[in-house]
Amino acid sequence: MTMQTNAVFEPGSTVGIIGGGQLGRMSAMAAAKLGYRVHILNPAPTSPAIEVSASATAGSYDDPAALEEFASRCDVITFEFENISAAGLSLLAKHRPVRPAGEILRVSQDRILEKTCLAEAGIALAPWKAVSGPQDLKSLEELGFPLILKTTRFGYDGKGQFRVESAEALSALTDLPYPLVAEKMIDFQRELSVMVVRGIDGTVRCFDTVENRHRDGILDVTLAPARIMPDVAEEAQAIAMKIAMELDLVGIMGVELFHGADGQLLVNEIAPRPHNSGHWTMDACLIDQFEMHIRAVTGLPLPPARRHSDAVMHNLVGPEDMARVAGILATDGASLHLYGKREARPGRKMGHVNTIFPRGALPGELALEGLLPPR
Ligand code: ADP
Ligand code: MG
Repeated sequence: MTMQTNAVFEPGSTVGIIGGGQLGRMSAMAAAKLGYRVHILNPAPTSPAIEVSASATAGSYDDPAALEEFASRCDVITFEFENISAAGLSLLAKHRPVRPAGEILRVSQDRILEKTCLAEAGIALAPWKAVSGPQDLKSLEELGFPLILKTTRFGYDGKGQFRVESAEALSALTDLPYPLVAEKMIDFQRELSVMVVRGIDGTVRCFDTVENRHRDGILDVTLAPARIMPDVAEEAQAIAMKIAMELDLVGIMGVELFHGADGQLLVNEIAPRPHNSGHWTMDACLIDQFEMHIRAVTGLPLPPARRHSDAVMHNLVGPEDMARVAGILATDGASLHLYGKREARPGRKMGHVNTIFPRGALPGELALEGLLPPR
């Protein structure tokens, strides 16, 4: 038996968040703004989200006793950490409503299931093939080169990905971490994303389509709005809304897309949770992605996802970006968000900065460089 799915949880209730990282931290702060109490489940007893929440259960995501204790302390459950097991999710769902529902998480956790599901819904994707073992490698030549191999689970920030340039390179590969998914490398003009949120009553809201740039496989900069034709921006939003409805989303979801050199929009991946490419909303929208998520999860009304300003979001990654913090604090128009992580290891997301402009006044390509103190 699973819990009733359309209950509303008024401010004063406790929202449980699975995962204690920065997305949980910013969700918890948004929940607190609306008068909710937040209880975190996290393996370690301290974390960025625990530091701003009322209480926490320290325990593994797969430990039934920890999950039971966590559920008993929450009224409604959501997550920032996507890789909780199917067994863990169904255990939680026996006790409390889990939003988004476990099914959508199961789909987004596994790249093959995700692509299968999206393709069945008529969503355009980069040409792809499942690779269950070495016997499948030969057939990948049909996709053409270069192609990219990705682990089906646990990938993030470009981890678990291998670029393959030619048939010779493909046949030289050994000891790969199967199962994998192979995708044709897309020649894209831009990478885009859309944050879409859906409520328990089916209301769907979409933030503006934005443009993302990566550095060493990690999101570096988001430009809001994306500098694309309005019809392309609207098409990306229509795709995101379609996925939200097909998957019966309750909560927020990030949809990553490629805007191909040929003009076609292809979905790269989905993440049914707040997303790094939605952090710009914290300073450029009255109601940001985290508050929209909390409103959806608790069953509160979802106002239109309106943007009052243009924004450039820079991620602060590792020690080299932490060295820029003093300069950023002194920069006019820059809003700094730090996650409270003790140690700035290379490649670790430490915070982000939103630089805000009047609508229509996003700086040109050259001026973008000079927005923040140099690295
Ligand atoms: P992650 O889960 O690590 O975010 P993604 O599938 O989003 O994995 O890949 C990370 C980045 O690698 C993408 O944002 C994009 O820049 C690049 N990439 C991934 N797949 C492709 C592809 N098929 N064609 C071109 N670039 C790709
Ligand atoms: Mg991605």
